[in-house]
Amino acid sequence: MQRLSRKLKAENKSIGFVPTMGFLHEGHISLVKKSKQKSNVTVVSIFVNPAQFAPNEDFKKYPRDLRHDKNLLKTIGTDYLFIPEVSEVYQTNYQTFVEVDEISRILEGEFRPFHFKGVATILSILFNCVLPDYTFFGQKDAQQVAVIRQMIKDLKFTTEIIACPIVREKDGLAMSSRNIYLSINERSDALVLFKALKLAEKLVMEGERLADIIISKMINEINSIDSSKIDYVRIVDVDKFSQVDSLISGSRYYFLIACKIGNTRLIDNVIIKVS
Ligand code: AMP
Repeated sequence: MQRLSRKLKAENKSIGFVPTMGFLHEGHISLVKKSKQKSNVTVVSIFVNPAQFAPNEDFKKYPRDLRHDKNLLKTIGTDYLFIPEVSEVYQTNYQTFVEVDEISRILEGEFRPFHFKGVATILSILFNCVLPDYTFFGQKDAQQVAVIRQMIKDLKFTTEIIACPIVREKDGLAMSSRNIYLSINERSDALVLFKALKLAEKLVMEGERLADIIISKMINEINSIDSSKIDYVRIVDVDKFSQVDSLISGSRYYFLIACKIGNTRLIDNVIIKVS
């Protein structure tokens, strides 16, 4: 991969990179399309990264369908698909991990303490293999984007991060490879995340500025669904990712939800600009 990337660079071609864990859906494809618009060559990686799953999480049963992924990528015209083996990425006696400090410990980090260490490590490795000029991420994993931006700045990686909007199903459910775990009833219960985000939007539009009030109403909405179990509902500043007590006119905030529906953990968010 490195040899290929160096060759492309020698030909003055810009490389756009879309890192994924496969089982691709329209959300992933939107990133590939963005990359194709902005770069001369697009590389997609598929790697289910064991280092970002805790022992009790779903690494083993994470959905995989390489044939479907290859067909989809071929249809939209992806230049290169990079599918390294776990044993190639983490060779015997692998020793090196990348930790982005404060921002990895909050929110997702409170519930998945080693998750971002795994994410930062694999992306460092992939950046060194693919040598991308641009890397495309979904805003669905908003904190991941913030963590990787920080890592790129601190470690002086040269790739530019481009965050792309969340792609949703027609009824509002954010697309996710994990949606396949949901039963029919859970699939309809899962809509409560989107409903709670919409409720937040409405409250802000009606003039509510106190974070606690908005959050408690969102929590009530989610708790009205029996199969739900909230990890967190938070409002953070878009730039610093720090929690806020009240919303200030002209500022932008992430409204973030992490919630289990049955046994499936889902995350979703929306950016709201306060007028
Ligand atoms: P994953 O395969 O889940 O690791 O996701 C790979 C990339 O696709 C990440 O940058 C995700 O944020 C992005 N992604 C996943 N779901 C969506 C979605 N519904 N809309 C936009 N991007 C997404």
